[in-house]
Amino acid sequence: NKPTRTYKRVLLKISGEALMGDQGFGLHPPTVERIAREVKSVHDMGVEICMVIGGGNIFRGLQGSAQGMERTTADYMGMLATVMNALAVQSALEGVGVYTRVVSAIPMDQVCEPYIRRRAVRHLEKGRVVIFAAGTGNPYFTTDTAATLRANEMACEAIFKGTKVDGVYDKDPVKHADAKRYDEITYDDVLVKNLKVMDASAIALARDNNLPIIVFSLDEPGGFVGILAGEGTYTIVH
Ligand code: UDP
Repeated sequence: NKPTRTYKRVLLKISGEALMGDQGFGLHPPTVERIAREVKSVHDMGVEICMVIGGGNIFRGLQGSAQGMERTTADYMGMLATVMNALAVQSALEGVGVYTRVVSAIPMDQVCEPYIRRRAVRHLEKGRVVIFAAGTGNPYFTTDTAATLRANEMACEAIFKGTKVDGVYDKDPVKHADAKRYDEITYDDVLVKNLKVMDASAIALARDNNLPIIVFSLDEPGGFVGILAGEGTYTIVH
């Protein structure tokens, strides 16, 4: 339904929850491996891939602060959770033969590389998948905003937001049988209608830099590679 275009460099954003399978918490290794294979199929097409992974399967800052923890401390714990997820995905990607670098917004040299923009670009040029960990490195942000920031810095052509559903709907398609999927929608409509695509700061940052966001289902086997090949259903926010 939409014109096919080829992408040279993209950023895949997934939530931490995408890694937990049917469990209520943490990492489900077969699910992590499945996602690694989805990424590998796109990598095999010669597309340069950046990844940002959330931390919600382990810890969310808001949840910690609701339990009485100081907010910034809780947010740092959330950022550390994203590093654990990044390491798990790196391990799975290397398990299927894809060279991967984890680069962290918070330096922790024994664990992964610090984020240095030019070095990250070089990794991409050499065909390595680069996973950006620790969000933006700042409390009060989310990994959606980190994804938009890094996609801009890396000059990605689009953000691919892998979710449980195949696009953006006017209401929750899990709860409403008559929910309607948008083929395309503007950033402003997402903000005005308060649609749950990414948080408002991420949407605004994408809008101000004309960075398209493609929302698709990561549960659909072959979904990611399919969309890059011009198939499948998704919503483009632009
Ligand atoms: N976080 C943060 N700054 C960032 C990115 C993340 O403080 O730049 C913290 C925040 O507490 C957040 C947690 O890390 O709740 C996990 O990230 P997020 O909620 O975005 O994960 P997701 O919902 O995508 O799994």
